[in-house]
Amino acid sequence: MQTSDIQAIDIHGHYGRNDRPGRDLAIRFQSADAAEVAHRARECNIQYTVVSPLLGLMPRGNADPVAGNDEAARVVARTQGILQWVIVDPLKPQTYEQADAMLKTPRCVGIKIHPEEHCYPIVEHGDRLFAFAAERHALVLTHSGERNSMPEDFVPFADAFPEMKLILAHIGNGWDGDMGHQVRAAVASRHGNLYADTSSASSIVPNLIEWAVREMGANRVLFGTDTPLYCAAMQRARIDCAALTDADKRLILRDNALLLLEGAGCDFATISTSSRNKE
Ligand SMILES: [Zn+2]
Repeated sequence: MQTSDIQAIDIHGHYGRNDRPGRDLAIRFQSADAAEVAHRARECNIQYTVVSPLLGLMPRGNADPVAGNDEAARVVARTQGILQWVIVDPLKPQTYEQADAMLKTPRCVGIKIHPEEHCYPIVEHGDRLFAFAAERHALVLTHSGERNSMPEDFVPFADAFPEMKLILAHIGNGWDGDMGHQVRAAVASRHGNLYADTSSASSIVPNLIEWAVREMGANRVLFGTDTPLYCAAMQRARIDCAALTDADKRLILRDNALLLLEGAGCDFATISTSSRNKE
């Protein structure tokens, strides 16, 4: 068996419009609806993509996460292969209420936070955010690597709230050019509840993912693509072709995500039955 036969789970995707004013071609190339995201995933044997709506993240400083969450709940329910991160923006209190309700639905698997697009320092808002997540034993995916979201700033919160599990997005991403922030933060955490995903453009760099696996252990590295901002098939190929054992690739592509999502209450038997009923 080749690792490309493994039905992968993409822990970090989006759908919608890449709303970056003034960048016409980027908007055209990096936007896609949920059906297109699901199609691209199927083409490279990704069984599930967990998405947050770009409507709720962009444009920077002016996104509408409340509308994005409502839209995502509708879109995800009717799109096979797509699961939902509910966005919490601490500057928009209504998103906490949405998260509380949506986390109880079968296709909403956790919370997405984005200190950069929503323009707040995690050090100022992390206490309330992670207390909320910990109370619900929720899985959280955060953007990381820019000034408001430095991986090392998440370590004290991960240590203070061991009931929640936190995935640092974008292994290799650092505004200062340092590619090691996510990996070092995960290693530094005390309770093993800090993970990191492979969704960065930095994944094109040789040795990076392999180094991350050596430092963190393959059981803390999760496959992510950042689709449709990046090419899902290319991100998949990076893991299939990595200088890693097949056992490690299986953990990264599928088994780690399965364990985390099921641990967060995700019932794949129910999800696949409800998908079949909609076909
Ligand atoms: Zn992303």
